[in-house]
Amino acid sequence: MTARRSRFRHIALLAVSTLALFGFTAPASGAASGSRAASASGAASTSGAASASGGGSHGKACRNGYVGLTYDDGPSATTPQLLAALRANRLRATFFNQGNNSLDRPGLVRDELRAGHWVGNHTFSHPHLTQIGEPAAFQEIASTQWVLRDITGREPTLFRPPFGETDDQVRADEARIGLLEVLWTVDSRDWAGATADEIAAAARTLQPGGIILMHDWPPATIEAVPLIARDLAARGLCAGRIAYTADDVPYGTQVFHAKAVRP
Ligand code: ZN
Repeated sequence: MTARRSRFRHIALLAVSTLALFGFTAPASGAASGSRAASASGAASTSGAASASGGGSHGKACRNGYVGLTYDDGPSATTPQLLAALRANRLRATFFNQGNNSLDRPGLVRDELRAGHWVGNHTFSHPHLTQIGEPAAFQEIASTQWVLRDITGREPTLFRPPFGETDDQVRADEARIGLLEVLWTVDSRDWAGATADEIAAAARTLQPGGIILMHDWPPATIEAVPLIARDLAARGLCAGRIAYTADDVPYGTQVFHAKAVRP
């Protein structure tokens, strides 16, 4: 465990220092293929072996479409409980993991994929990307891409900026790496101490294609899983994967281009 952990740390340091060397002058590997269309079609490749349910239960159960359940900031000490709750309620979700937490708990990242969930990039250390300047912002995203690829053998295609803070520079970094920016249409406010009932109430406002922001660590978020499952089933909605859409999805005064689709 310790040896493995130090190996990942070594890789991350290598990634960061290499990026510092080549950072802004050389094109990042793989960046050339990073068109939005490639991001969208590649999103399926982040899916693990689809052992979670949903596979055979489409059709009538999902007659009104799909929503995106997202859990940010992990993996954390309580990720196993969250995974157990999702499994018990036959829901699939997208985990936007931090690079530093993934290095600490690489086994949990693999568990997420193995359970049929999707793994996206949420930066290495959760900074305010629009305030730290370049090349720091690019390195935060790119090093996490390296870490997650090393752990999972898959290249993440989805990216969520910490605090939902983005601008033209951040979007340029995402495009260069080949990542689809994923914001949200509903904020559960679990990060602000919302109760399980309040989180479930927020989820009840999800429209087809919509995406809800939740987190990997609040206990109330895990408690809310069965409530969300019951509501989605009652409304003929299923938990889907997140993919590119040409539509402008409103986000404050900005827009983004991601929605939930059939896995
Ligand atoms: Zn976050």
